[in-house]
Amino acid sequence: MVPWDAPEEFPLAVVVFGQGAKGAFHYLVPQDLTGAASPGKRLVVPFGRGNRERIGYCVDVLWRAGDKGRYKSVCRVLDERSLLSPAMLQLTAWIADRYLCDWGQVLDAVVPASVRRQAGSRWRVFIRAAVSRGQFESLELTTKQCRVLEVLLESDRLWDPNELAAVSGCKLGVVQHLIRKGWIQKESVRIRTRNREESGFAPKPAFVLTEEQRAARDAILQVLRSGKHGTVLLQGVTGSGKTEVYIQVIEEVVSYGRQAVVLVPEISLTPQTLDRFRSRFAHVAVLHSHLTDTERARQWEWIASGQVQVVVGARSAIFAPTPHLGLIVLDEEHETSFKQEETPRYHARDVALQRARLENVPLVLGSATPSLESWHAAQRGEYTLVKLSRRIEDRPLPAVRTIDLRRPPGKRGEKGAITRRLDAAVRQALDDGGQVILLLNRRGFATHIQCPRCGYVARCPDCDIALIHHRSEATAVCHYCDYRTPTPARCPECHFDGIHFGGLGTERLEAEIRARYPGVACLRMDADTMRSRGSHEKALDAFRRGEFQILLGTQMIAKGLDFPNVTLVGVINADTALHFPDFRAAERTFQLVTQVAGRTGRGERGGEVWVQTFDPENPAILAAVRHDYDAFSAWEIPNRRSMHYPPFTQLIRFVVQGVRQETARLVAQALAERIQQAWASGPTESAAFRLLGPAPAPLHKLRGRYRYHFQIQTSVGEQLRGMIRTVLDEARFPEGVACTVDVDPIDML
Ligand code: ADP
Ligand code: ZN
Repeated sequence: MVPWDAPEEFPLAVVVFGQGAKGAFHYLVPQDLTGAASPGKRLVVPFGRGNRERIGYCVDVLWRAGDKGRYKSVCRVLDERSLLSPAMLQLTAWIADRYLCDWGQVLDAVVPASVRRQAGSRWRVFIRAAVSRGQFESLELTTKQCRVLEVLLESDRLWDPNELAAVSGCKLGVVQHLIRKGWIQKESVRIRTRNREESGFAPKPAFVLTEEQRAARDAILQVLRSGKHGTVLLQGVTGSGKTEVYIQVIEEVVSYGRQAVVLVPEISLTPQTLDRFRSRFAHVAVLHSHLTDTERARQWEWIASGQVQVVVGARSAIFAPTPHLGLIVLDEEHETSFKQEETPRYHARDVALQRARLENVPLVLGSATPSLESWHAAQRGEYTLVKLSRRIEDRPLPAVRTIDLRRPPGKRGEKGAITRRLDAAVRQALDDGGQVILLLNRRGFATHIQCPRCGYVARCPDCDIALIHHRSEATAVCHYCDYRTPTPARCPECHFDGIHFGGLGTERLEAEIRARYPGVACLRMDADTMRSRGSHEKALDAFRRGEFQILLGTQMIAKGLDFPNVTLVGVINADTALHFPDFRAAERTFQLVTQVAGRTGRGERGGEVWVQTFDPENPAILAAVRHDYDAFSAWEIPNRRSMHYPPFTQLIRFVVQGVRQETARLVAQALAERIQQAWASGPTESAAFRLLGPAPAPLHKLRGRYRYHFQIQTSVGEQLRGMIRTVLDEARFPEGVACTVDVDPIDML
């Protein structure tokens, strides 16, 4: 068949490793493995001088002519089915490029470890005949042994040993005897464990959409029916019915035999959220970080089988192996938890956009308070902006008012965290039978432990940060590294017996509430009280059932919860996030206040919000008070532009950390200079590049390491990333010094 003068071509597998070896390696695919060794599967290949067997991902198969002898050969193919579709392979390559990490690292992050270990399956032993029919005739066998072999030879398939014994009418011992003789043999096979079957699914009826909802649904359907990618930013005030819009679009996606992926922040992944999808679709898979390994592997296999209609999950669900993706939804798209804070440091929103492009499907971004990045893209016409400006049933948004904290406490004649005005509102709400939510974004009892005589402050020895007093455990805790030590009873420096516990955390607020409102059931939710798995859902359920009148806690109570009976929300201190050394501080504050305000007035009884602040004229707080996103963005966008921050530039942040302060500082300095030089010798004009720093990072010492950071602002990210990769590949860091590169950073500390 091959024309006589055409050179013979042979297949080469391109292999990438999860750890250690960077780059791609080529291996010859032996004849018996062609076809089986395909992209997306893992291969066992010889590696290095010693030819040790290693597992790598096959990312491509090339046909090449030439000298076959130059290549080592693939030993085995590990997976029966491909773990990654061509689109997912492309996506992971994009992530490696965008976030400056290795392709293999991304692949290891995308394919769950449990799937790689095949946790959703197990080995089972089967039996087959080891002799031919001809040989069988000449063997000396008992009647029972004869029957076993006859069954095997007739059926020409693998048999479970017990089943084989039963069908042959003998004991298992007969089978075992035949194995010892070598006339039949065992064979191990991987069996997929079965998924739980859903039974008797009875879908809930759909809501009749409001006019605004219908317009939103139609805008998304228009993209869907075009068969092309497009992004819709759904900006809907809290309680405007965004989820129902998603669901009705997904119904059409499902009717095409396609799957939808819905990403929500981890904290919103409650049974309540899941029920909204499970009550409308028969096959809903869930992916989140609390799954056991086996559960995760099963969900993954189930999704890959194509039987799942909707995947609901947190950040990593963007990698769900849906065989025929139809739609991606990112709800609460402004949430910072969509960014992964370890390698690969991807942002699920950007990955979702890329995946939607690759698979030609719509992406829907939903939020009451969109990120300025998404909002700006909509302003520039890259996304379609659709607004839901009214709550369902035209319920009014709650009235939000501020309480000025600036007068000194003495003058107010008030003690504690709750002002007289807020106190009156709480009593009123309780008297009327409503529930109350109080937000304080700081856990613990006191935020600093100080000696009033000598000025000593308890600090973390590893992070140099003030320790937080946790009264119930009588422990001083570092909130960055979890260092714990018994809270000193007297000053360790001057032995003064009267240490002062200053500052306010949720634990102290709880004590104040219990003292102020005796007999009122109060529930505290923060990282300390919600440690065990499922405690979050249990607490919220109890609150929903009305077992508690007051819910207080950190930002974890501000997100996406729907409690019709909450008539009052109080923000104890709106300024906690305002003065962070982070260019998004104002945006965070605006989002937090708007979101927590949205927790009230969702029922027939309406609701009100009181916001305590030292800065009532702050534009971010004023805009939140008025539920006015446009005012907020109109004020903040020019700041971002003039300071060259996103969405006008791309940021790349470098953190160099080391045990020795001076070494870390010098390495950061050298690296920054090296990058500056590489840029200067490159072809592009300098306006597109600005390097800030290096300087000590806001968290200068963390877990015993000194940290220096610098950041680059650029409008030509792509070129720059290539250059940075070269610099980093050439860089040699001294022992004990490490550098992390964060593209599009969220954490600026
Ligand atoms: P959002 O996600 O925008 O905050 P939700 O999706 O939680 O809003 O919707 C708020 C409430 O309104 C939910 O209880 C939902 O079931 C209900 N709802 C949504 N759409 C409709 C509709 N068209 N008619 C009546 N109720 C609706
Ligand atoms: Zn610490």
